[in-house]
Amino acid sequence: MNKLIYLDNAATTQMHKEVLDAMIPYFTEYYGNPSAIYTFAGDAKKAVDEARKTLAAGIGAAPEEIYFTGGGSESDNWALKAAAEAYAEKGKHIITSKIEHHAILHTAEYLEKNGYRVTYLDVDENGLINPDELRAAIRPDTILISIMAANNEIGTIEPLEEIGVITKENGILFHTDAVQAFGHIPIDVDKMHIDMLSASAHKLGGPKGIGMLYIRKGVKIRSFIHGGAQERQRRAGTHNVPGIAGFGRAAQLAFDDMEKRSSYEAELRDYMIERILTEIPYSRLNGDRTDRLPNNANFCFRFIEGESLLILLDQNGICASSGSACTSGSLDPSHVLLAIGLPHEIAHGSLRLTISEKTTREEIDFTVDKIKEIVERLRNMSPLYEDFIKKQK
Ligand SMILES: *Cc1c(COP(=O)(O)O)cnc(C)c1O
Repeated sequence: MNKLIYLDNAATTQMHKEVLDAMIPYFTEYYGNPSAIYTFAGDAKKAVDEARKTLAAGIGAAPEEIYFTGGGSESDNWALKAAAEAYAEKGKHIITSKIEHHAILHTAEYLEKNGYRVTYLDVDENGLINPDELRAAIRPDTILISIMAANNEIGTIEPLEEIGVITKENGILFHTDAVQAFGHIPIDVDKMHIDMLSASAHKLGGPKGIGMLYIRKGVKIRSFIHGGAQERQRRAGTHNVPGIAGFGRAAQLAFDDMEKRSSYEAELRDYMIERILTEIPYSRLNGDRTDRLPNNANFCFRFIEGESLLILLDQNGICASSGSACTSGSLDPSHVLLAIGLPHEIAHGSLRLTISEKTTREEIDFTVDKIKEIVERLRNMSPLYEDFIKKQK
């Protein structure tokens, strides 16, 4: 097999051809500024309105509750910083979890430096937060709870509805970073009592640099980007019309075939998990076996350095990751793997494989065969493994 095998869809996805087709006219023909009055800008404005409708419908929201941003990180920053500011009179306490994306964690740390208190909830060995612990962490001055919909490293899906009920009972805002979940698993903002939700186009076959923040009607929130009156005066800046059109198209495709796609992916994922766990000794699956994104698998192989494994896979044309794209290049173990209780030496050696509807069984077979070969080769060079095997005998 000479072709590229792309198994890093949690980092970003290949844009669908239909999405590119939907974008091109707004670069070339309909390049008007959607805020302009003249008729020529009408097509651009229409594209923005249509995309807003599609995105809203996908999560049971109203179009005027969707605000376009420059991506998931911006949406997360906006939700936390602006809500913290808007509700500061009520209190300065925020609750989140230890396994959030850095766009949340680093924003929370920034708020801590500015006089806010943050509780970082523990998760269990599969990465699930405990609703009772969430309840117990609530204080009279708690203003915001931000818990991700699904984890980007280990794929664990959090109990959103349960969390939503708790936040609602206590009159606290609920934000969820749904960047990995949006368009991949069903989300209903009313049923789950979600007040704010972050999503990003490039994680579902759309373009990079465009995202959204859903903000429930009635939520007080400050503008994040000051300037023009775009986005109901809450997020200034000329609309990224091609990006928005692409986001809308990608979301439409994702919602239309969600059931079919997720069952295909889940079956392939389970096949891969089964093969790896049975054929490679001392391997473990990280994350929940069932409350898990259909496209995510994450493994640890004892006695193996994650980096070496990734480099050798790359030499075979296989794109994989050791967890989050943001931490690769640094040698820190994953904060997510540490939070699920793995010791440092094991948290270093993880492998994340995230598939798409384009991934084939042949690609998975080739990949698993290669992993098997490489793990065996690396272990044969490892004095630690040699000692371990001697002691087993
Ligand atoms: C990718 C990702 C982000 C960041 O989104 P960008 O659009 O790349 O800024 C935030 N949260 C999660 C869970 C992600 O997977």
